[in-house]
Order: sequence, then structure tokens, then C-alpha cells
Amino acid sequence: MTLRPVETWMTDMDGVLVHEEVPIPGATEFIDRLKASGRRFLVLTNNSIFTPRDLRARLLGSGIDVPESAIWTSALATAQFLGDQRPGGTAYVVGEAGLTTALHDVGYVMTDRDPDYVVLGETRTYSFEAITKAIRLVAAGARFIATNPDPSGPSQQGMLPATGSVAALISTATGRSPYFIGKPNPLMMRSALNRIEAHSETTAMVGDRMDTDVVSGLEAGLQTCLVLTGSTRREDVERFPYRPTRVFDSVADLVDLV
Ligand SMILES: [Mg+2]
Repeated sequence: MTLRPVETWMTDMDGVLVHEEVPIPGATEFIDRLKASGRRFLVLTNNSIFTPRDLRARLLGSGIDVPESAIWTSALATAQFLGDQRPGGTAYVVGEAGLTTALHDVGYVMTDRDPDYVVLGETRTYSFEAITKAIRLVAAGARFIATNPDPSGPSQQGMLPATGSVAALISTATGRSPYFIGKPNPLMMRSALNRIEAHSETTAMVGDRMDTDVVSGLEAGLQTCLVLTGSTRREDVERFPYRPTRVFDSVADLVDLV
């Protein structure tokens, strides 16, 4: 099989470009090369806390200059999905500005009275009251959506519970499972491709996880580039039932491929 030349790039953020706030060597050069090439690209994240503007500011603080328009989050993908599925709908939202802003922008109304959906995203301030409300609304028939299935996330102090864990709490209480939008759902990739009008067969996805970045890139028909600066070690790769197109030590090795 010969690979088609890569015209557009997608890259995961944490573990590829940064470790939380700390830039990974080569990330700044990779992004600068993408911008200089004039090629379309997107930086993807399953984190639904922040708006693209917030994320741009955070990345800039790490010395990585990504335009707001080149950032695609699970919150944006969720809002686009709901806007397509049920235009002008209503939602009860447990989440932060990244999610509420995205839903407002597609014309959604936030309400706790008989909403079409309960939408669960990432927050650092999950309240028992809000979760109780979400449980009651799902039990009463609201459709249950979650931005991403990640069970936990990193922080300087140690592991943090993430959206997937809170979704499990609501699922256990109600017997209803959410539809997860973020990676590994290939919907996240397809919505990103649509966003920059890219074609799957000439797009590469760069990521640090086999079970999210690589599998969702693969299922969306993209070439996949695994980097070893995140959670996957080289010896782990062959244990999965699918393979990335290529494996690189880090994003620094990708600079000259743009
Ligand atoms: Mg990652």
C-alpha cells in the first residue's frame, strides 16, 4: 500500500504538544511549520472545560502559537452534533464555559425544565446538587450525552476524576448510558475533518494514545502517527489489535514531514 501525501494534519494536544503546561520539544516548531506551509490543520482535545480562546491563551503561555480557529474540542463537536440532530433544542448542562459557550453558539437554550438533553462535560467543581438534577432529568426521559469518555485526567497533584467517571455515576443511578462524542468516537474526527473541509485519505492524525487517537483516526479513515511522548511505550504498540500507520519518538520528528 502506498500512502497518499498528507495535505492536512490533526494533532492531539496533551502528550503530543504539551504535558499540561509544559511544552514538548519540537511542538512549537511543528505548529510554526504547519502555519508557514499554509496547510490546514487542527489541534484536537477531548477536554471540554475550555473555549478555543482559553486554550489558545494556555498554549501561548507554553510558547505554542495556535490560532483559535485551529482548535477543535469535544465541546465543539458535541454542540455541532446536537445542533445537527435537533436544531434549536434545549439542554441541561453540567460543565464549564467551553461547553456552555459552544451550545449557546449553535442556538441551544440551557434549562432544567424538561430539556431535550442532559449534556455532561468536564468540570473541576462537580456538585452533588447538579448531578442529582441530571440524574432526575435522565430518569424522566432526557437524552443523555457526554462530551468524552475519559475516566480520569492528569494534574500536578495526581489523578483527577473526569467526565467518564461522573457519567458512570449517572448511568448507575438511572440505568441509562450516555452517547459519548469525543475520542475514540470517530465522530470527533469526522466533525474535525468537516470543520477544515479536509479529506480523510490525505489527512494524518497525530496522537499519543492507541485506544483513543489511533483507533478513532483509523476508523475515520485517516493515516495515524503515534508519538511516544505520552502514555504509550514502543513495546505496548504491538499488543493492540490495530496499528498506527507510523510510530515516532516525538512531534520533533514530524517537523520535516510537513
Ligand atoms: Mg493525548
